[in-house]
Amino acid sequence: MPQLPSARGRYDAAVIGAGPNGLAAAITLAQAGRSVIVYEAAETIGGGTRTKELTLPGFAHDVCSAIHPLGIGSPFFKRLPLEKYGLEWIQPDAPLAHPLPDGSAVLLERSVATTSAGLDAPDQRAYVALMEPLADGWDTLASAFLGPLRPSLIPLGIRHPLLLTTFGLHAIRSACGMARSVFRGERARAIFGGMSAHSMLPLERSPSAAFGLVLGTLAHAIGWPLARGGSQSLTDALAAYLRSLGGEIVTETPVTALADLPPTRAILCDVTPRQLLSLADDRLPSGYRKRLARYRYGPGVFKLDLALDGPIPWRAADCLRAGTVHVGGTLDEIAAAERAVWQGKAPERPFVLLAQQSLFDPSRAPAGKQTVWAYCHVPNGYTGDMTEAIEAQIERFAPGFRQRILARHAMSAADMERYDANYIGGDINGGVQDLMQLFTRPTIQLNPYVMPAPGLYLCSSSTPPGGGVHGMCGYFAAQAALRGALT
Ligand SMILES: Cc1cc2nc3c(=O)[nH]c(=O)nc-3n(C[C@H](O)[C@H](O)[C@H](O)COP(=O)(O)OP(=O)(O)OC[C@H]3O[C@@H](n4cnc5c(N)ncnc54)[C@H](O)[C@@H]3O)c2cc1C
Repeated sequence: MPQLPSARGRYDAAVIGAGPNGLAAAITLAQAGRSVIVYEAAETIGGGTRTKELTLPGFAHDVCSAIHPLGIGSPFFKRLPLEKYGLEWIQPDAPLAHPLPDGSAVLLERSVATTSAGLDAPDQRAYVALMEPLADGWDTLASAFLGPLRPSLIPLGIRHPLLLTTFGLHAIRSACGMARSVFRGERARAIFGGMSAHSMLPLERSPSAAFGLVLGTLAHAIGWPLARGGSQSLTDALAAYLRSLGGEIVTETPVTALADLPPTRAILCDVTPRQLLSLADDRLPSGYRKRLARYRYGPGVFKLDLALDGPIPWRAADCLRAGTVHVGGTLDEIAAAERAVWQGKAPERPFVLLAQQSLFDPSRAPAGKQTVWAYCHVPNGYTGDMTEAIEAQIERFAPGFRQRILARHAMSAADMERYDANYIGGDINGGVQDLMQLFTRPTIQLNPYVMPAPGLYLCSSSTPPGGGVHGMCGYFAAQAALRGALT
């Protein structure tokens, strides 16, 4: 068996994968005084949190994650001295804009009241009644969603029954069901539908409403920031802090079998169940292997990065105040696009998630130029080209946009998996996040981070609380290791 590098001799723990969760796991172990080495397959660290010159010199594009409400809201990241290592959050004027076919746009503002003023009159009070208590109670909700899920929910529910019941009753619903019963006008329904579509579930399916509620609450409570210089700066800050604690990272070192690793007391894997099955060989009992093999992956994404000669000429100029723009029109249109994806079809009019970071961070592009980050959902593993469909959607709400394009870089769902092996078929959440699998990832088990093999832990987004750049999966897995193999 080829042995992987073990530069300084023996380590207490090895982490496979230098994504945000792998780095969070390694930091947690190093903070507790354990020696740790991280093995990363790619040339550069960061997994889904990297920035590259994908189009032209001087244009810095976030290859995957770009907008970080979960990063700034992460109880784990909050405790780290990341600013000291170069991380700076930038809050755009408004978190989100949602252009509509009538030429106007709905703005999700930091203030609940200002947001509600932009909705149709009958929805203004309903919006405030729904969102104000959630925004005020974000710290409690954060403990429920980003905290140690199961154990925390019961005491939290006893202390905050009204907040959690209100949230739970809405969150458990489908986005379409909730939006149509709570709101009467298209403006509120559309913006809520767009946020809920981050679930990558059909909007008729429960609990897609939960994603809309959490993202809306985050916008009001802490904002949807981007990282100055690119998402890579969050990765670089995590890595620099890890190294300051004595942790080591080696790149260009894909691990193909756990048996190849130098002996350590614990191995933490920032990979998804399918990869774990191939890495772990016969270390996992056959019953557990069968359960892991039933783990489900969801739709993929098609990613498009653009270098532009100037800002996007949105028909609704207010869109230029927002870091993120949801391009998909009405609730019905977005629901149709997401439904098509689940039926295995590429949507004709995709729902496009777009970020325009360079409007707020001039370091991303040469003077006067702009970057655009956009993606849409497609069937898992889809190899087709959605460039034309994405550009047509943007052009619909910003006539003349195409004339500003200087260069493009596109990645299909299959390319995404080649770029980062954790994005199976282009699934960016490490597995479907529906009612069954959101709380029971990777399988139904008492501690989702502990694998039934001595010293083996799973620390990726295929464990709770799931997808997104928050590091909480890595933190909880490392805590489990510190209570277990690394006691
Ligand atoms: C297009 C796109 C847009 C996104 N937008 C956002 C966003 O705006 N905000 C947000 O919060 N999230 C976003 N995400 C999701 C976010 O990037 C992921 O949820 C997050 O990166 C998951 O972190 P992770 O550490 O679990 O896995 P990853 O970030 O995928 O890291 C896994 C790492 O493990 C490495 N690895 C895998 N197998 C091996 C092996 N055998 N040996 C060695 N190394 C290995 C990989 O190379 C990779 O570096 C987006 C993702 C994509 C693709």
